[in-house]
Parts: sequence; structure tokens; C-alpha cells
Amino acid sequence: MFKKILIANRGEIALRVLRACRELDIKTVAIHSEADESAMHVRMADESICVGPASAQSSYLNIPAIITAATLTNADGIHPGYGFLSENQRFAEIIEEHNIKFIGPHSNHIKIMGNKIDAKKIMDDNKVPTVPGLNNIANKKEINDFINKVKLPIIVKAASGGGGKGMRVVTNHEDIENAIISAKTEAKKSFNDDKVYLEKFLTTPKHIEIQVLADSFGNVVTLGERDCSIQRKHQKLIEESPSDLLSSNKREEISELCKKAVLSIGYEGVGTLEFLYENNNFYFMEMNTRLQVEHPVTEMVTGIDLVKQQILTAAGEKLNLTQKDIMMKGHAIECRINAEHPESFVPSPGKITQYHEPGGLGVRVDAAIYQGYSVPPHYDSMIGKLITYADNRKECISRMKRALEEYIIMGINTNIQMHQKIIMTEEFKTGKYDINFMSTFN
Ligand code: ADP
Repeated sequence: MFKKILIANRGEIALRVLRACRELDIKTVAIHSEADESAMHVRMADESICVGPASAQSSYLNIPAIITAATLTNADGIHPGYGFLSENQRFAEIIEEHNIKFIGPHSNHIKIMGNKIDAKKIMDDNKVPTVPGLNNIANKKEINDFINKVKLPIIVKAASGGGGKGMRVVTNHEDIENAIISAKTEAKKSFNDDKVYLEKFLTTPKHIEIQVLADSFGNVVTLGERDCSIQRKHQKLIEESPSDLLSSNKREEISELCKKAVLSIGYEGVGTLEFLYENNNFYFMEMNTRLQVEHPVTEMVTGIDLVKQQILTAAGEKLNLTQKDIMMKGHAIECRINAEHPESFVPSPGKITQYHEPGGLGVRVDAAIYQGYSVPPHYDSMIGKLITYADNRKECISRMKRALEEYIIMGINTNIQMHQKIIMTEEFKTGKYDINFMSTFN
């Protein structure tokens, strides 16, 4: 088992990992930038070390500084959290070269799944349904044949894409060339890889994803689904589990396929297969080879600590769970709390002058802020997550409404009121919403 884990992240996820370590009796090292000296994850860790100036590029993405910090503190594992270096194949490789364990999958799996074209091929081979697509876009005739087959609209996507970047929806035939050029330019700039591909654009799908957990002995379990269709600019805002749309047969069917695909490449650790779901059909989009922001809703309905499981499997332990141990019970919803202007969505960093967290039965707050803390302007605007759990969806929504009302964050703007409005809409209350929900919401 690990003796000391360096957490290569900040904010609520650094705290989440730290808490799991503490319960497993593992010491923690926090890294931080100069701007994060007074951050909660620094205050709570056993040791902390500054890895550079405020900009993420110079600190949380600074691989040499992070490896030096791990070596100096004798850490035997590095947890990347999500975002930052969590899906950086080179980072995982360098860590292994230093005889430190990367708490995530093998670097090779990050590479394979990091390329969405390769990932789709693996899924196709394992009979996991994928979005109809065209990978070779050099040939105009093939593009035309593809469009004739799937019909417009289509979407141009970056093979190495993430965070909603490098995507262009095409509704008119004459816009295709420009869309490809601009997607390529954005992909090159964001991912240093200008490879793009085409997909049929599904117009009213839900975003439904399946959580998997695998050990190094070939044991894999799936932990149900999450509906993450409430998104703005392809970024998730609210997630829930389970999805009322899925029958237990449908859930089992897709979960079994996911399990086979994951087994076929010998994947280890936690991972998520993301799908679009339309007219009762699943269409695989991509796999995330890391812990996700929205993992708490799965933890609430399964009662399984995903971060502890992730650490245990990375330590080489056998899964202590089989598929029949995994039972989904009740309902969970997560609202991402962002420091941003409620209308313009422009980030709203600054000092939190008053802070009060909601509590009570079935309420969980994963955040790393406190009264007097200054939210720095350099990083993502998500400052925390509010999660509620109840016996059923209706009660879970009522509980979320109550918890949002209790949540007080003064001094900065947040999206708390927006969440209050969203969960009270008819579409949300009935569960009849799809990925277009936010485009008509005001
Ligand atoms: P990223 O890795 O950049 O987040 P994804 O492939 O996960 O990109 O897609 C993000 C979101 O973009 C999806 O949740 C969905 O809302 C939208 N999207 C992507 N591909 C399609 C598609 N073929 N049809 C409709 N919407 C899509």
C-alpha cells in the first residue's frame, strides 16, 4: 500500500483525494502555485510544496517541478485528479520512469483512449454502438457519401479533443470546408494535433455515461450510469444518477458491452465511457481515463468510495467487489457551483466575505472554499459541488432545492440561483430534457 501520495491538483478534487488517503492511512503532499498558498488543500495536507507561479502552465502543469516535489517528499504515488495532467500520457510515463505509481491507467491506455478515433475503433471491435462517423476526411467524395448516408447535420470533431474544443456543427453543405478548417486550427492550437473527424450530429440526445472500475487481475465492474445532459457550451452543469429513461435490461446490456471493451484492452482503475442516447439507442463518443467531476452521484447511489477503490487498485490490490455487490439505490443529483456572473457567465473571482454550507440528511458538499478565502482568477471557475441524495428523484430534487436555498456564498457571483431555476423547470422535474436544454433556458 502507498505510504505517501502527492496530489497533483487543487481545489475540491485535491481535498476529495486527500480525504480518501486519510481514511486509508496514507500521508499526503499537496502541491500549489504561488496564488494558492492559502488554499484549503494546502492547509489540510500533511505536507505542501510550491511548484511555481500562479499560471497553471508554470505550476499545476509544470511536470519537472511536480516530479521534483514528489522525489523530494518521497511520495510513492501521484494522484492527478481531473483536468490538468490527468490525461497526459507523457506525465504518466515520466512518473513510472521515476518508480512512482501513477494513480490512473497505464500510460498506453491514456494514449489509446485519448485519440477518439482509436477509442471508437476499439468500441466497434467490441460491438459497443458508436456514433456513425467518417475518419478519413481527405477525400471529398467520401465526405459526400457520408453525408448522403447519415444526412445533415454533422459535427466536425478533434481526434484529441477535450473540454468541448475543436467541434463544429455543420447544417449546410457549403459550410463543410470552412468548418473543417476552423476545427483543425482550434484543435492544433488546443491539443497540438489537427486531426479531425466527422460524426452524425444527433439533434436531441441525452448525454449518458457508464462508470467502470477495473483491477490489474482482469476484474471489471460497472457502476451504473450518470445523465449529464444539462450542459452549457459542452460543459456539464448538473449530473444525476440513475437515469429514469433506462430500464434495468438496457442498463445491463450496455454495461456488459462496456465491460467487455474495457477488458479487451486490459484497462486498470476508474474510467468512464461517454455516450449519446437517443430513441433508446446508445452511441459511444469517448472514454475518459480518469476520475470525473461527477463521480459523487455514483458514490451516493452505490455506496462505493470510487477514490478509495481507485487508490487500492493502483496499489495492486484485487477488487473486493463483484458485479452482484453493486446495487443502485435511491437517486443523487449534483450541481456544479461556479464563481461566475449569473447572466454573462463571465468568471467572478474575488474574496468570499460570507460562507455558509448547507447540511442535513442526504446533503454532501465537495468544495474547497471558506469565509475569507479569495478565489484566484487563474483557474477554472468551478469552486465546489453540491450533491443531494434521497430515496427517489422527486425527493432528491426537493432536497436540492432546499440545500441550494441554504447555500450562502457572498462577495463573489455564483450560479446558485441559476441552479435553483433549472431544477424547478418542468423539463427537469419530469426528466424530459436533453443536451439542448441550456440553449433555450433563461
Ligand atoms: P469533449 O471531450 O470535448 O468534452 P465530447 O466528445 O465528450 O467532447 O462531446 C462533448 C459534448 O458535445 C457532448 O456531451 C454533446 O453535448 C456534444 N456532442 C459531441 N458529439 C456529438 C454528436 N455527434 N451529436 C450531438 N452532440 C454531440
